[in-house]
Amino acid sequence: MSIENTIAEFKKYTDKFVALNMACGMFSWDMATGAPKGGNRARAVIMSVLAGEAFSLSISDEMKGYIDELEAHASELDEITSVMLKYCKKAYHSYRSIPVAEFMAYSELTSNSQNIWEEAKENNDFSFFKETLDKIIKYGIKFIGYRGYKVHPYNCLLDDYEEGLTVEQLDVFFSKMKQTIVPLLKRIQTEGKKPDTSFTTRYVSKEKQQKISELLLRKVGFDYNRGMLKESAHPFTMNFTRDDVRITTHYRENMFLSSFFSVLHEYGHSLYEQSKRDDIAGTMLDSGVSMGIHESQSRFFENIIGRSLEFWQNIYDELMEILGDDFRDITPEMFCSAVNVAEPSLIRTEADELTYSLHIMIRYEIEKMLISGEYNIDELPVLWNKKYEEYLGITPGSDAEGILQDVHWSGGMIGYFPSYSLGNAYAAQIYSFMQKDLDVLGLVRKGDFGPIKDWLKEKIHQYGSLKTPDEIITAISGEKLNADYYVKYLEDKYTKVYGLN
Ligand code: ZN
Repeated sequence: MSIENTIAEFKKYTDKFVALNMACGMFSWDMATGAPKGGNRARAVIMSVLAGEAFSLSISDEMKGYIDELEAHASELDEITSVMLKYCKKAYHSYRSIPVAEFMAYSELTSNSQNIWEEAKENNDFSFFKETLDKIIKYGIKFIGYRGYKVHPYNCLLDDYEEGLTVEQLDVFFSKMKQTIVPLLKRIQTEGKKPDTSFTTRYVSKEKQQKISELLLRKVGFDYNRGMLKESAHPFTMNFTRDDVRITTHYRENMFLSSFFSVLHEYGHSLYEQSKRDDIAGTMLDSGVSMGIHESQSRFFENIIGRSLEFWQNIYDELMEILGDDFRDITPEMFCSAVNVAEPSLIRTEADELTYSLHIMIRYEIEKMLISGEYNIDELPVLWNKKYEEYLGITPGSDAEGILQDVHWSGGMIGYFPSYSLGNAYAAQIYSFMQKDLDVLGLVRKGDFGPIKDWLKEKIHQYGSLKTPDEIITAISGEKLNADYYVKYLEDKYTKVYGLN
């Protein structure tokens, strides 16, 4: 067979697992956005069959044949084929040692476990979830044993979400965060002038909040022709191809800002997915490159844009038409101060920009222990609470606002949390260089998001998974991820918000 034919066959072959993964994603989307609960068990079986099929394709002899053949002609391959080969090779070597039957059993476990976690959270009782979680962790450890790792077993999982990321790097990253954030938080609490946040819990009906979602998405220019917004318990983004990207939010009538920022956050994810190049559409590269880069895009819209005074000035009049007389006494400046308040809290998703990384540090430390097998499942809630006391000075009063708050572990997503902090750090580094090319906040005040979106598309979005996180950030800033940009961003911002000298 000529190399051209091999490439064509290889691409057709990878189309199959793209399709299977997409079908799985469609079931997940459906389950999270209103499919009848009674069908969950049956759907879990179907999803495990589809996932098992995709898994088998990625470790088959046929795949091995393509890898060998293409590697022998590496210098003749186009860029897209080369990168696809890199991912297929990585998956093949990572997963070929996991027995398909075990992978399918694991996949069924994680499909069912989301409902078990939800039930445990509703009942505010970790004991409902602990056996399932224990099984998930044990599978994680077993799979790492099959896959192999360098230095620390957790490195194996970190690399799944952020290519090349290690415990060694994260230990340095988080210790830098801790050294900056903890003293800054202390100064804020002792010397700072605390903004008034009392009005943020005023009642805003779900109907009004839906109108606010529409306003926000209209402002930033969400492409409804290739996307949609629905409701789910936990806001998320689901991308099928760049032409079908769906986001969700949730409405809390005494906390309207929760949906407000979820919409902006998920929009950042969706813009990344919708802005990829034509020639990777529908291929296995038609997806953001890493969770860290993905979170940088969601955090950019949520925090850097959404919490700026310029953004609140821009949307103020239209927002007031929706909020009505209940908020007439609140100025854009008051909104801006309130949404930038920093104080220790229990719930990660509601945490402010400053304390957010402390929440992640807690999960990072616990996950390292779980994956090393150094844990007692019954004592996890106590361990969790102790760490909150140590880093944030507050203790959760219940499992629901403690160890049960996040969905991630129920889906087997261990190693994912650090990408949230990396996302914040990437966002600060990207923003620092965007400002050299654009008057970013001047554009935001005018509501002119086009140049900002074009900039992100050119430097980041267009590539999908074609370039690595390191290549992307180095092309923008001339260096790899550097936490100093983030530290400086936080210091500048909070010194200003709290009037510190
Ligand atoms: Zn996100």
